[in-house]
Amino acid sequence: MKLREALTKSDDELATLRDEILEKAKQSDLNAYVGFESCGSGVPILLKDNIQVKDWSVTSGSKILQGYIAPYNATVVEKLLASGLAPTGRANMDEFAMGSTTESSFYGATKNPHDTSRVPGGSSGGSAAAVAGGIAIAALGSDTGGSIRQPAAYCGVVGFKPTYGKVSRYGLAAYASSLDQIGPITQDVEDAAVLYDIIAGHDSKDSTSAEVEHISIAKNLDADKKYTIAVIDNYIKEASEDVQKAYEVAIKALEDAGHTIVHKELANTKYDIATYYIIATAEAATNLARFDGVRYGRRADDVKNTADLFFKTRSEGFGEEVKRRILLGNFVLSSGYYDAYYLKAQKVRHLIRDEFNKIFDEADLILSPIAPSVAPKLGSMEDPLEMYKSDMYTIAINLVGLPALSLPIMKNSENLPVGLQLIGKAFSEQPIFNAALSLERAVNYTN
Ligand code: GLN
Repeated sequence: MKLREALTKSDDELATLRDEILEKAKQSDLNAYVGFESCGSGVPILLKDNIQVKDWSVTSGSKILQGYIAPYNATVVEKLLASGLAPTGRANMDEFAMGSTTESSFYGATKNPHDTSRVPGGSSGGSAAAVAGGIAIAALGSDTGGSIRQPAAYCGVVGFKPTYGKVSRYGLAAYASSLDQIGPITQDVEDAAVLYDIIAGHDSKDSTSAEVEHISIAKNLDADKKYTIAVIDNYIKEASEDVQKAYEVAIKALEDAGHTIVHKELANTKYDIATYYIIATAEAATNLARFDGVRYGRRADDVKNTADLFFKTRSEGFGEEVKRRILLGNFVLSSGYYDAYYLKAQKVRHLIRDEFNKIFDEADLILSPIAPSVAPKLGSMEDPLEMYKSDMYTIAINLVGLPALSLPIMKNSENLPVGLQLIGKAFSEQPIFNAALSLERAVNYTN
């Protein structure tokens, strides 16, 4: 059942629906859920395990937060409750949203419903696998460098990363604060618009929340509007054959639907990964300093003094990938290296933004791959550098703060979904949804 259909159901029907969903989720072998709580009396909506619901456990997929109970609702949760949605279930994720496969979770890996020997993507892998696997109507994820769009693409569902500042981060466990955004993962473009309308809007509790009025996307959806869409020629060369094929299919479909395609280049894409992994780890090291065994969650036993408490709690509580990033983040912020790495990365970030802006002088939207390939096999991304490289198409969008929507285009010969993204100008999100709807109708993807 789609979200918009569920929103028309009676309270009794919805109570049954929530029970059914939770029962199905408990039986499922996808390991998409890490908690089966439900609150409120509306349409069940699954939340990533880094979004706080009052009195629920929230762990960001980490051992260090075991036992932590959220003392308040995230702003998005207040908005869901006010619109007749009921947070139902917590979705698995990479620990502290660091990862591209959901394998770094304390709860073990989530599986891709299209092929359970493959990853669902990450870090919002639980959210995407559940929507694709029929055990959630819709879900919320968070996207710091692709974590909504990439799992959506690997699982054949729709994911939207809003413009930075459009959705409140209040009550979202921080990974990299200048990049993080909460967004919807849904079965189709219209549902994404409906859910986005519910969670968007200014929030005085988040100092980076943009003071702009949110105008309903769902009410203004128009698949007949025509746009100029840029394709980045040098972007596509490193993608697999499947992704290149999907790109061709999408370009043809967009042209047939009356959109104009223009060909562009992005010169500095080779710096995206380095820039992102400097800024994201610097912010992560700072944000994760608060987990010390005193204030949140788990505390190590048998400690000699305060320093030992911090040391033992963090050594035992954080997983390998999180530790790697804390070390890297502290390194790039340390005196002597700050200028060479962190400051340099911030400058490159501006160059990347300028390049996107130049393209947006001539185009309304950009069409781009999301990942270089279809969902990889479980256990095949053990080399961290390989995993970081697979983020090459998604992370620049977060560095610049742009909105982007990921939608499935086709399946490859092994029946695995291939998705692409439409990227828009900051705070101009209606064209993304309009063009995505026309593309969705043209390619007619079925899960
Ligand atoms: N894969 C990227 C990372 O590990 C993005 C994660 C995210 O968007 N949360 O940082």
